[in-house]
Amino acid sequence: RAKAEFETRICYFESEMDDHARERRSMAHDLWEAVEQGSFELAYQVQKNVASGAVTGYEVLLRWDRPGHGRVSPADFIPIAEECGAIGAIGAWVLKTACIEAASWPEPHKIAVNVSGLQLSQVELVDLVKMVLFQSGLAPERLELEVTETAIIADKKRALATLRQIRDMGVSIAIDDFGTGYSSLETLRSFPFDKIKLDRSFMAEVETSEQSKAIVRAILALGRSLSVPVLAEGVETQEQLDVLRVEGCTEAQGFLLGRPGRMNWPEADMLMFA
Ligand code: C2E
Ligand code: MG
Ligand code: MG
Ligand code: MG
Repeated sequence: RAKAEFETRICYFESEMDDHARERRSMAHDLWEAVEQGSFELAYQVQKNVASGAVTGYEVLLRWDRPGHGRVSPADFIPIAEECGAIGAIGAWVLKTACIEAASWPEPHKIAVNVSGLQLSQVELVDLVKMVLFQSGLAPERLELEVTETAIIADKKRALATLRQIRDMGVSIAIDDFGTGYSSLETLRSFPFDKIKLDRSFMAEVETSEQSKAIVRAILALGRSLSVPVLAEGVETQEQLDVLRVEGCTEAQGFLLGRPGRMNWPEADMLMFA
């Protein structure tokens, strides 16, 4: 009987696996189609100086309405895009479109573009950045790349060389999601960077947990001793912002300061859609 039960379970497991694999294949297919049809959009989320409230830049966030499924989070489709090879084309579209759009803004704000670890280990990224800056006419100082040290950085030496060359052009580098998973002290030691983005999981607990607050304080101190600004992600409440002000955090980003949306010039308010 145990064997029968075991076999039933195996069968169930295999059909689950099939469903999962089928869904990934189907999403990969839809992603390639979206690349061909250019059906992605960009949302922008404001970043502000904590002390002055001044705008310091906008993070560029990819948006995709998958036919028959509605909006899908980039957290869900970026890994599939990396797996199926579409990330190169998608990443190039994001970089090019963001630079062209930002170049036409009446205010010369910075834009922060997320770059997949997979793109980082491709030498083409250097040429791509060079090309989009040239094509768009955007000043390199207005471009920042947000990178996470992901498991897929196959060749660290190459990623490092890529980052150095990009930085030499005048483009800045931010370490995204700092404090979690793959973005850690090892990243700080080995990567050239200009900003630390504190993962939003710390904000969620900064008011209720003394431990989280102590960690935030330590990371802010780390930023100060490295002379690198720290941006806190996921700021949703005034209380969180107050803590950041008291603790001397440089910049903040989150729903409290502005949701991701289309830029709506000349007022620079955001038409919310994300
Ligand atoms: P991320 O780079 O850490 O981006 C910040 C995420 O936090 C965004 O989610 C944003 O909408 C969300 N967020 C902002 N403020 C708040 C807040 O106050 N509370 C909460 N709960 N969330 C907030 P989104 O747009 O769904 O993106 C998820 C992730 O997908 C990004 O995390 C980034 O890793 C990736 N991603 C987005 N766009 C791109 C892209 O163009 N290229 C690549 N390679 N990855 C991207
Ligand atoms: Mg980011
Ligand atoms: Mg982040
Ligand atoms: Mg993230």
